[in-house]
Amino acid sequence: MNIKAIVYILTALTGLCVGSFLNVVIYRVPNAVSVAFPPSHCPKCAKNIKWYDNIPILSYILLRGKCRNCGCRISLRYPAVETVNCLLWLLCVFMLWDANIVYCIISMAVCSVMICIFIIDIDHCLIFYRFQIALALLAAAGMFTGQGAGVIDRLIGLAAGLVLFALIYLVFLFLIKREGIGIGDIILMATSGLLVGWQGIILVMFVSSVTASVILLTVRCLNKENDRFHEYPFAPFIVFGDLIALFFGGQIIDFYMRFVIGG
Ligand SMILES: [Zn+2]
Repeated sequence: MNIKAIVYILTALTGLCVGSFLNVVIYRVPNAVSVAFPPSHCPKCAKNIKWYDNIPILSYILLRGKCRNCGCRISLRYPAVETVNCLLWLLCVFMLWDANIVYCIISMAVCSVMICIFIIDIDHCLIFYRFQIALALLAAAGMFTGQGAGVIDRLIGLAAGLVLFALIYLVFLFLIKREGIGIGDIILMATSGLLVGWQGIILVMFVSSVTASVILLTVRCLNKENDRFHEYPFAPFIVFGDLIALFFGGQIIDFYMRFVIGG
């Protein structure tokens, strides 16, 4: 077996285990519970989960998605988070390992933090600063690998994300007299700029606003009640845009420059 195959297998297994830990983080951080203690337990019967019932994906399948003790349903979200983290990590190895191993590992960590931001914002309409700080530190570390956007591009991206989203925030406040996006979204956009650079942040804005418009309009149409003042999370769309920019930004921008602008 060659080294690359071993890297893929180890990445998949570690990705699943870290995904399992992300489930704990996603559930406990918003409830201000330590991620280390108490040990994993069933939210319904509170019985501690044995190690053999806590193996990513496998235990879920063997237990048919039910608690061994009380038989209550275990949310499909748990294996889903493990799978998505594993797949994103594999994508990092596939696309970035050969270019720069450090940058590849930083990108894996970025993906995991993004998953936390994505789900916690859906659950609570809130982005915790600790995730923003983690993302900013990872983006800053990424600058020193010489991969992705250049240092100047990233700093312009940071400023662009901050200023543009602050303007959108103010326009909403002025026009509809309430927050259209949250302060957390502005900071996330600034951190995203530091991560993917100014060209990347334009792509993030485009992808996030288009997907948000399509999905939120659909949700609104399906929701019969008048929910004009319902608060919707926006971070999942920024995260989606970030991941597109992180993995495919270079190709998309090249394509745009060559065929749309270059003629
Ligand atoms: Zn139980």
